[in-house]
Amino acid sequence: MLPYFGPRFGNSASRSHRFGWEAEKAVERARERVAELAGATPREIVFTSGATESNNLALKGVLEAYRSQGNHIVTMATEHRAILDPLRHMERLGTRVTVLPPQPDGLIDLDRLREAIQPDTVLVSVMFANNEIGVVQPVAAIGAICRERGVLFHTDAAQAFGKLPIRVAEQAVDLMSFSAHKLYGPKGIGALYVRRGVRVAAQIEGGGHEGGIRSGTLNVPGIVGFGEACAICAGEMEQETARVAALRDRLLAELQTGLDGVAVNGSLQNRLAGNLSLTFASVTADALLASVPEIALSTGSACSSATPEPSHVLRAIGLSAAAARSSVRFGLGRFNTEAEVDYAACRLIEAVRKLRSLAPVP
Ligand SMILES: *Cc1c(COP(=O)(O)O)cnc(C)c1O
Repeated sequence: MLPYFGPRFGNSASRSHRFGWEAEKAVERARERVAELAGATPREIVFTSGATESNNLALKGVLEAYRSQGNHIVTMATEHRAILDPLRHMERLGTRVTVLPPQPDGLIDLDRLREAIQPDTVLVSVMFANNEIGVVQPVAAIGAICRERGVLFHTDAAQAFGKLPIRVAEQAVDLMSFSAHKLYGPKGIGALYVRRGVRVAAQIEGGGHEGGIRSGTLNVPGIVGFGEACAICAGEMEQETARVAALRDRLLAELQTGLDGVAVNGSLQNRLAGNLSLTFASVTADALLASVPEIALSTGSACSSATPEPSHVLRAIGLSAAAARSSVRFGLGRFNTEAEVDYAACRLIEAVRKLRSLAPVP
């Protein structure tokens, strides 16, 4: 990325000189790398500022472009705020939104999805993998249902991209959101995959960049970093998934051996390798996190940590407010080691035992 902040500072939209061409070449190379990881073609990739923007563009842009065909969207209660908040806004402006509850394991009920699709349905938006509980939805099956019923399918793949094999054509996806910082790229850059032939009304206008769908001078260094991150993930996804899943399983085994009352939230089979969401009976997650400040853990999602309410995802899969407040999210990744897992498990066992002895909850 560094040369594009300095010696190669060209604007990729400048067509009349070498500096612009150089930047444009770097952007197009990155676009190829992003497309490659998704099984898409470069022309189907629209760069944005991240998955929040991509989600907003997909939902608002598709509903606007297909207004003559209907005004109904189907989604799930466990979606990220970057889906649920724009939908609430759209609802106030007249869009009909059906929010499906997940099954207790976090997965979508495909029969309920079939029932929810109505003649005025334009779009189904169901995330690929959940950011809090890591549950991976049956995306290809959802895509097949949408194709059969003639509605468009958008999936927020911020958590899945670079971690799970993604082939947009085989999975029958029409629109897909990506975020670079979720796959070790820079923050503030992402993309929306828009299948060829799908119409999206621009939500940011001015200059006609990105095929007129998303105007504004491109973030060249960010895009270059995003492309590089995709290429690295493509090369190591298979080995990394196996390695990280083994670390995750080790962490769970150690915690469940050392403690009673440790429950896994959401399906363990259909889950991202690096995710573990656990409820520790009789302790609050806030107290637990405060007693191990050297370990980077979180309660719900980093994106909504400003709101004190218990996680809407955990509530949607059936946890009580108290159980949701006793839940901790673990994220394991590329730079974690066995020694770190053992250290974290040891410190957490110690901390949970201490908290339980201090304030025993019946
Ligand atoms: C992180 C995340 C987002 C938001 O992505 P940004 O690039 O930070 O805007 C959206 N959806 C999911 C599932 C995420 O994990």
